[in-house]
Amino acid sequence: MSDWEDEYDAGGVAISKPLTLPVKNAPVQSWRPPSLRGARSREATSFGAKFGNVREGEQWTNWRDRDVESNICDGEAGKNNSYSRPRAGPTGCRSSGDGSGSSPETLHVENSLVGRIIGRGGAKIRELEESSGASIKINRGAHDAEVLIFGSCDAQLKAKDMIEDLVHGNSVRGPGYRNGNSDAGYQGDSCWPASAVRAVAAAAPTPVPIDWTALRENRDKYEAIKWQDLPTLKKDFYIEAKSVAARSAEEVKIWRKENNNIFVDDLKDEDKRTIPNPVCTFEEAFVHYPGIMENIVRVGFQKPTPIQSQAWPIILKGIDLIGIAQTGTGKTLAYLLPGFIHMDEQPVPRDRRDGPGMLVLTPTRELALQIEAECNKYSYKGFKSICIYGGGDRKAQIKVVTSGVDIVIATPGRLNDLQMNELINLRSITYLVLDEADRMLDMGFEPQIMKIILDIRPDRQTVMTSATWPTGVRRLAKSYLKEPMMVYVGTLDLAAVNTVHQTVLFVQEEEKKDYVFDFIHRMEPQDKVLIFVGKKIKADDLSSDLCLQGVAVQSLHGDREQSDREEALQDFRDGRVRILVATDLASRGLDVHDITHVFNYDFPRNVEEYVHRVGRTGRAGRSGASVTLVTREDWKVASELITILERSGQDVPEELVLMAERYEKHQREKEMFAPRGRGGGQRGRFRGGSERRF
Ligand code: ADP
Ligand code: ADP
Ligand code: MG
Repeated sequence: MSDWEDEYDAGGVAISKPLTLPVKNAPVQSWRPPSLRGARSREATSFGAKFGNVREGEQWTNWRDRDVESNICDGEAGKNNSYSRPRAGPTGCRSSGDGSGSSPETLHVENSLVGRIIGRGGAKIRELEESSGASIKINRGAHDAEVLIFGSCDAQLKAKDMIEDLVHGNSVRGPGYRNGNSDAGYQGDSCWPASAVRAVAAAAPTPVPIDWTALRENRDKYEAIKWQDLPTLKKDFYIEAKSVAARSAEEVKIWRKENNNIFVDDLKDEDKRTIPNPVCTFEEAFVHYPGIMENIVRVGFQKPTPIQSQAWPIILKGIDLIGIAQTGTGKTLAYLLPGFIHMDEQPVPRDRRDGPGMLVLTPTRELALQIEAECNKYSYKGFKSICIYGGGDRKAQIKVVTSGVDIVIATPGRLNDLQMNELINLRSITYLVLDEADRMLDMGFEPQIMKIILDIRPDRQTVMTSATWPTGVRRLAKSYLKEPMMVYVGTLDLAAVNTVHQTVLFVQEEEKKDYVFDFIHRMEPQDKVLIFVGKKIKADDLSSDLCLQGVAVQSLHGDREQSDREEALQDFRDGRVRILVATDLASRGLDVHDITHVFNYDFPRNVEEYVHRVGRTGRAGRSGASVTLVTREDWKVASELITILERSGQDVPEELVLMAERYEKHQREKEMFAPRGRGGGQRGRFRGGSERRF
């Protein structure tokens, strides 16, 4: 329940109402129409309506007690539509000055005791009102309720006394209280004599207020019990090479600047740690781990990518890391290689661990498979990995999981499913990776991630990667990483890789097919193109058109069977087809190294997606090209696209500038004719010129 707390009518029934306590002139979010209130019982009206928020200028009607109105209005003439928070003075009664009554007296009562004031069916509260002459209103809060007493000073004091008695244990007096004969009465409409009730009440323990500190301590105790008996965890394996340690602060600064402007930050609040110097060669990071070095030599990489140079020393030191870098810059190896070492060096030998040691959560099935392939490529000490993803064979996955694996690479949906069914033990995980965190959030995986992480020991090491740094990712980082360091490579502004030559063509919707056919006919034998379309049906449509023309093509989208999706991607990777038509399912993270072209048949939903699509080519230092078809329908994004092109040093076509201007003008006109309308029109450039929309 949020701002909409329960309010009780005289029958003790909760009625809904606007905001709990109106602060002076606070905006009112909702208001029950008077006609509805009128339909309620008299008591309901008195409790429901008179304390509801009152809109500016709205007359308070339907009141049982006009005194209350003047008191609440603070006695200021002409302002009786505003409400000031009632203050409870020590005397409990503030005269309004006009002799008609006073401001409400306020008591705070724990929610668990409010029932004593209301009584069964509202009997007690009615009785209190009648015998004191005051009117009483209860606002329930999260933990306690606010009891407002309206009426004359006398009435307020009397009611307050009675309520305090009720709440503080003298509640057995019942109706007898009124005439001072406590023994004569009955408790509400109880059939028991007051003496009997009193005996029971005396025996009953006095209600103790909730002790939140104790509860919190208990939670900590429970946490400790939950995680006791876990094997000790080792996290720091870093032996800094002499050459690395010898680098001066100035050298490091220059190196960071020259390597895509790397920025490193310690997010620990106090006692900031020294940020490790970057490693510039593979040896500097892994000389003590010959198995890893062999693999690197085998694949023939020359030197670490910037994110790897800076991430490896941090992760190897056992510090949590947030790595933000563009797609295709080697983030996978940045977390995988230290992960291998982490698992191998744990005090508990692998064969005595009762579950996997590393978990990589990743947004899409294809990415999971790709990471698994990467794991196997650098396979270290025979670590076994498994990919757990929706659409894959669940039974087979369960079989592998239960037969013992070291590394789990999973999409959150399926992993959460296995976790809930207790088919996987996550307690053994000591190294957790949240890969492509921004994408996982976009796909709505946050709840599953939360549940998964609850079962992973809190002292684990966590690495998170992302291509962008939006609020959601920050929140995730704050919740699940402990005192992390952050490495970001390049700027945090959205920018497409500058290794891709980007062309923008202006076409009519019906010309698009001609353009794509023309492009395909001009392809060189070594070219490989990923064609992005906006809809799954269009992917089918375009790929079958191409097939009919005798062009070898595959398609990838969410409506295809998982096995077909995997086959399509494998065909494309292996070069059996050189054209893949896909939806944005393929826009993130996919790494097919020899894609030479990205063809945006339809413009993506937004420029972020454009950046990711374009990033499918020009990977790992290669160059690539993109062609983007833009129609008049896409004019909304023209301005943002210009920014992206400019940032990555591309030519900006004049037509795109004109398009942005037309859109801006259109927005301004729209605002002029509909002055109250909302709307952008703030972005983009306006250089005058053609009015023509093409
Ligand atoms: P990201 O996760 O940042 O999008 P990937 O980890 O998928 O990028 O890596 C992109 C490609 O770069 C992969 O093919 C990977 O094998 C390759 N790669 C990784 N590290 C290096 C390196 N140090 N030198 C050259 N290529 C590398
Ligand atoms: P499941 O398919 O069992 O729900 P997943 O974790 O694989 O489990 O996926 C959860 C959801 O994420 C799917 O319902 C699907 O909509 C979406 N999804 C899965 N894989 C992909 C992918 N490769 N690209 C885009 N969306 C995906
Ligand atoms: Mg990646």
